Amino acid sequence: MVTKRDDGIADPHQDLRNSGLKITLPRLKVLDIFRNSEQRHLAAEDVYRILITEHSEFGLATVYRVLAQFEQTGLLKKSQLGNNKAVYELNDGEEHHGHLVSTSTGEVREFYDLGIEERLKVIVRELGYELTDYDITAYGTPLVDKR
Ligand SMILES: [Zn+2]
Repeated sequence: MVTKRDDGIADPHQDLRNSGLKITLPRLKVLDIFRNSEQRHLAAEDVYRILITEHSEFGLATVYRVLAQFEQTGLLKKSQLGNNKAVYELNDGEEHHGHLVSTSTGEVREFYDLGIEERLKVIVRELGYELTDYDITAYGTPLVDKR
């Protein structure tokens, strides 16, 4: 999980050390992008595109590898949204949330609804299980065209 320093300023070096990963330039860069992006959810291609605008020389294969390492070590969370859209976000201990994907722009929004979680607990219990995790992705078209 990523941490904040006492002064509230992010320390990517510390995060990498805590995760047991060696500090390398691609890892620092990718972590930096997630820290500073206005978009919380980023696909591998988004990260790659940002790296290009920053004139970084890493290939898409490197981006995929770093993202996979970050997911394995818990720095990032990966969510599969639909068939071919996987997004990553910082694993900063925020509440379990669902994702809403705009079918017109691909924008990803988050939502949290205790009612859904409570309902799922009941459904799963009725099937003889205890809810340990869930994954909700909703799709919608914007009511107001923001393009
Ligand atoms: Zn999310």
